[in-house]
Amino acid sequence: MSLDGTYDDGNIFARILRGEMPAARVFEDDHVYAFMDVFPQARGHTLVIPKHSTARNLLDAAPEIVGPLMLGVQRVARAVRAALNPDGLVVTQFNGAAAGQTVFHLHVHIIPRWEGVALGRHGAGGMADMADLKAMAAHIAAKLS
Ligand code: AMP
Repeated sequence: MSLDGTYDDGNIFARILRGEMPAARVFEDDHVYAFMDVFPQARGHTLVIPKHSTARNLLDAAPEIVGPLMLGVQRVARAVRAALNPDGLVVTQFNGAAAGQTVFHLHVHIIPRWEGVALGRHGAGGMADMADLKAMAAHIAAKLS
């Protein structure tokens, strides 16, 4: 998928937002939905997506979407830090397949990092257990402020 194209509302994140697919939800408000990545690159790998947008990537997104999205990212990243005490946090976002994007609904990754612990490969790790992800989501959610 190139940077240009039409939003496909059958994408997996749109389906999660419509409640058609399960997700380990960490947080949601009027603007954003945060949930655990099911193929985590590290313990606590969390995704934040806009709820009311058909942007495929950051370049598509309307200005009124970006502000609340990034505020949601900051809030969830702080909770991830408080819950897991990582040494660092990657906040990242891919635009287009050539950049590594695999799901074409705008999203931001929050990936905790620990010294000496290698980062899992993007999109290449094993699928996590949903019960474990839900426990992690609750652990992070408890630290939201
Ligand atoms: P990207 O490759 O940047 O488009 O990121 C998409 C992310 O979504 C990847 O890290 C996948 O592991 C993750 N992912 C794919 N399907 C699901 C799902 N059903 N629930 C949670 N995360 C998912």
